[in-house]
Amino acid sequence: MSSEGRGRLAGKNAVITGAAGGIGLETCILFAREGASVLMCDISAPALEKAVAKVKEIVPNAAGKIETTICDVSKEDAVAAAVEKVDSWGGLDVMFNNAGIMHADDADAIDTPEKIWDLTHNINVKGVWFGSKHAVQALRKHNKTKGSIINTASVVALVGAATPQLAYTASKGAVLAMTRELAIVHAREGFRFNSLCPAPLNTPLLQDWLGDDKAKRQRREIHFPTGRFGEAIEQAHAVVFLASDESSFVNGTDFVVDGGMTKAYVTPE
Ligand code: NAD
Repeated sequence: MSSEGRGRLAGKNAVITGAAGGIGLETCILFAREGASVLMCDISAPALEKAVAKVKEIVPNAAGKIETTICDVSKEDAVAAAVEKVDSWGGLDVMFNNAGIMHADDADAIDTPEKIWDLTHNINVKGVWFGSKHAVQALRKHNKTKGSIINTASVVALVGAATPQLAYTASKGAVLAMTRELAIVHAREGFRFNSLCPAPLNTPLLQDWLGDDKAKRQRREIHFPTGRFGEAIEQAHAVVFLASDESSFVNGTDFVVDGGMTKAYVTPE
């Protein structure tokens, strides 16, 4: 990938959570390439260290700052501190509330342990609320007349998954509803809120789990009209658009990046 962008995010200060993961890291790389200053936030220190090294390797001459901070998004103080860190850069312009978990013990209505439900909602829902709250406060503090907040939901907020993961699905539905309301409440201040709805992605975790099992793979791939899973970078390109002024009239959307999966009626050949 070229380290040269077109400056689509030049001068913008962005906070990205879950920055060391698949979607977060690809987004940090594209943001750096497009001229943004980026504060990469993640709960995992070693993963964050590796991630920032990758951003700096791919975009060695980034026009903006690229910094990191350890942040558990389920803790309000940590989110507030991350957003405040960007104060000295001139204040926040873009908040990508992307950190999220899908726990291995998440199951159906009967088998999901309450502690897994609470953990999932603390990160996936409260984390997005804290990020949105502190983004609004920062935008106001710096008298900004525009700002973009992007919250990662999932296609499971739109269609039911046959594989039960009830806490996760409910949490992503909450992200959609919360983001929509925030978009309306803050529209006249110029603060835009959009949800990103990714379909299942081609992540190492998923690929390792599918392995060489052709039937298992086929059962999932069949849902994609394109015949393949998505890539994290394809989500990141959408986030660049939503963060940039190119999307100035895009507000309150469930921005679906799924290769047509949620619109498909596909049968095996
Ligand atoms: P990932 O697991 O690769 O990355 C998630 C990152 O979030 C990790 O680096 C992890 O350390 C970090 N994180 C976990 N808990 C955190 C916390 N409490 N505070 C801060 N950081 C924390 O996942 P990904 O695929 O990049 O997913 C990013 C977002 O996209 C998530 O919200 C996920 O639910 C959503 N999503 C993913 C897929 C998919 O197929 N990968 C599909 C739909 C939606």
